[in-house]
Amino acid sequence: MGDTIFGKIIRREIPADIVYEDDDVLAFRDLNPQAPVHVLFVPRKAIATLDAASAEDAELLGKLLLAAASYARQEGLAEKGYRTVVNCNEHGGQTVFHLHVHLLGGRPMHWPPG
Ligand code: 5GP
Repeated sequence: MGDTIFGKIIRREIPADIVYEDDDVLAFRDLNPQAPVHVLFVPRKAIATLDAASAEDAELLGKLLLAAASYARQEGLAEKGYRTVVNCNEHGGQTVFHLHVHLLGGRPMHWPPG
C-alpha cells in the first residue's frame, strides 16, 4: 500500500494540529473543517479503507470510535450530539487512503448527507 499524507502526519514528517494520541490512534484537526469541531481519528496502522479492514482490526476499529466518543465528551459535544463518518472509496467520497473517522460537531447536522 502506498504512503499517504496521514502517514506523514503520524510520523511527524509534516505538521498537524494533534489533539489526541495513544499507542494505536492519532487524532488531529481537519485542514478544511466542515463544522466548528472537525477532527480526524486515524489508526497508526496503515489500513487503506474500511473495506480493507479485517477481523484482526476489530479491536482497533473499536478504539477509533471510542477515542472519538471520548474526545467529543471532553469537548462538551456529547449532550447535543455530533456525527462520526467513515468515507469508503470513490462513491463514499474518500480522498485520503488511510482509514479515518471524521468527528464533526458544534452545529446541527443534516440528513441525508450529500
Ligand atoms: P476523506 O475525504 O478521505 O474522508 O477525508 C480526508 C480529509 O482529510 C478531508 O476532510 C481533508 O480536508 C483532510 N485533509 C487532507 N489533507 C490534509 C492534511 O494535510 N492535513 C489535515 N489536517 N487534514 C487533511
